[in-house]
Amino acid sequence: MSDIGSRLAELRQRIRHHEERYYIHNDPQISDAEFDELLHELERLEADHPDLVALDSPTQRVGGRTVEGFATVEHIVPMLSLDNAYNEEELRAFDERVRRVIAKGAVDATAAAAEPEPIAYIAELKIDGLSIALTYEDGRLLRGATRGDGARGEDVTANVRTIRAIPLSLRRSGPAVPPGRVEIRGEVYLPRAAFEKLNREMEQAGDPLFANARNTAAGTMRNLDPSLVSKRGMGAFVYQLVDGRSPGSAPLALAPADAASGEGLRYDTHAATLEALAAWGLPVESHWRRCANIEEVVAFCAEWGDRRQALEFDTDGVVIKVDDLALREKLGATAKFPRWATAFKFPAQQATTTLTAIDVNVGRTGAVTPYAVLEPVKVAGSTISMATLHNAEDVARKDVRPGDRVLIEKGGDVIPKVVKAILPHPDGVPRGEPWQMPTHCPECRSLLHRDDEEVVWRCENTSCPARLRRSLEHFASRTAMNVEGLGASLVDQLIDQGLVHDYADLYHLTPEQLETLVVAPKEPKSERAVARKLGKVGRNVVAQLERSKSNDLSRLIYALGIRHVGEKAAATLARHFRSMDRLMTEPVEALQSVSEIGPVVAASVRAFAEEPRNQQLVRKLKAAGVNMDSQAPEPSDQPGPLSGKTYVLTGTLTSMSREEATAALERLGGKVSGSVSKKTTCVVFGADAGSKLEKAEKLGVERMDEAQFLAFLSAYN
Ligand SMILES: [Zn+2]
Repeated sequence: MSDIGSRLAELRQRIRHHEERYYIHNDPQISDAEFDELLHELERLEADHPDLVALDSPTQRVGGRTVEGFATVEHIVPMLSLDNAYNEEELRAFDERVRRVIAKGAVDATAAAAEPEPIAYIAELKIDGLSIALTYEDGRLLRGATRGDGARGEDVTANVRTIRAIPLSLRRSGPAVPPGRVEIRGEVYLPRAAFEKLNREMEQAGDPLFANARNTAAGTMRNLDPSLVSKRGMGAFVYQLVDGRSPGSAPLALAPADAASGEGLRYDTHAATLEALAAWGLPVESHWRRCANIEEVVAFCAEWGDRRQALEFDTDGVVIKVDDLALREKLGATAKFPRWATAFKFPAQQATTTLTAIDVNVGRTGAVTPYAVLEPVKVAGSTISMATLHNAEDVARKDVRPGDRVLIEKGGDVIPKVVKAILPHPDGVPRGEPWQMPTHCPECRSLLHRDDEEVVWRCENTSCPARLRRSLEHFASRTAMNVEGLGASLVDQLIDQGLVHDYADLYHLTPEQLETLVVAPKEPKSERAVARKLGKVGRNVVAQLERSKSNDLSRLIYALGIRHVGEKAAATLARHFRSMDRLMTEPVEALQSVSEIGPVVAASVRAFAEEPRNQQLVRKLKAAGVNMDSQAPEPSDQPGPLSGKTYVLTGTLTSMSREEATAALERLGGKVSGSVSKKTTCVVFGADAGSKLEKAEKLGVERMDEAQFLAFLSAYN
């Protein structure tokens, strides 16, 4: 290597070393000025020798170009979320489930019969940030992607590269760096100091402040300008290694760089994995601890509930994982969560403030719900100015009144709620009058109604502007017609300008109409709440609408917002009836004959179909070119061995989820029902089964425990 080449290599290595000291270990060995001097020398040398600039050089973190948008990334192994535990009992229940499953799988029958062995766990602080998947190829950072919906995320590589805690290339001393592609998962976050600094700058510029660090971190990662991301001072921690060969679970099997045999390099424990990640120069949060049993986990959670305020980042809990990776594989995952991990949530954060008013909000179905307007107060880093009050009865029961001093609570992502009024008022302020539910809709002045059995008051006017607004938002939402860009503020504009009166009108919007609308960017993603012309975004919305015309019928049924018809029922209806025409004309008996469609849903679909205004709407959508058919695979008409039989599942099964058990029975032609009757063929019960099992006993219905159920299923395989 030339002298220049070796000087470049040395500089890059030294800079990376100091980046690690500063951004990962928070323990710098040189001053900022000295660090800048090293970086400047490298920049000068690279400027003179552009042919020697490597992509993983520390000077190449910020590409300098604004990106157009983010490409979609499919996660080969889904990024599952974690089940939660809110107290000690739930932690112990998690441990018992784990031990039960493992004991059941034991080869030695006597070992299974004995008290299950204690399980060792790794407890890690849960970082309140944005999940990220980093792909390294032959040790070099190739890609960074967000979690997205777990199956698909966004490619945010340009932004990830600017985060100095994340190495552009892995350190090659210590344990072998895996060749080929490897995915490392973790969390990017905004350190508290960086968040406070950012808000000080916003304040000085007279701009609105950011509400909390987590949302700001998420918004930052989705910013199209990497140089802005670079300035924010984001941090990162990693906690998982994935190789893509073990869907659902997360063990790893990697070939070591020097293994001639090609046998996978395998860490046996999560602790060894974390140590390897740290040795490769990746940021691993240092407070993790190996706990020999669940009691040590409980102690760790209690300890950090108190200590976390002293940390430099926000944490909302502790993640607990089975340490032994072979046991993890045995435990597997449900459709939603791995069975070998849980997230302990620290207790909710509370604050007191003044309730200035109680207002109401009109929803998509006309439901009118009260909420509390609060004097803004800080709770756990966010400013709270509103809290939910659920319904009129909730307000009456809590007897909170405007002017009261109230206790509010915020737990995780949940909308804050009003716990109670503090009585008497600490400053001796006399109480106001009890709050009354308004008699008329605040938006359209229609008289509000309430069914005898319901707690919710409703505006029954189907053309109420407030209902239309919420309906359109629902229609466009990701799980419905999925029209990106058609959010709340744009919907407001469309209604105010009289451009849209129903769903079908959306399909007659022109790019010219949308381009000129002026819309404020929606919170909390917005950088600054500045109104701007829609321009290109407007054109894109029209393109998105055009694309949505070819959605499957299931999305359309869900998007129509028929009461009681959720995503799952919509998919079932689409699969069975195949076309909108058929769905609109089926008698209620036919609707109800479909497995999983109950009388309430059937009646609601029928009522929707009989309303002339809805028939008109469907005709309009059809005329606009919206697809009215289902392409989903038709349910098999082949009778299975369990045809005509009805099963009820109750309690917790340890070897499979409720959905898996349902699918297994349905594949064999059986029907799964939610309630036990004389017609029930058999009740399958797991741990903690309650009243359904009792009822089955009383009615003399056949019963199977989990072991019998598994044997029963295997007889058909
Ligand atoms: Zn109304």
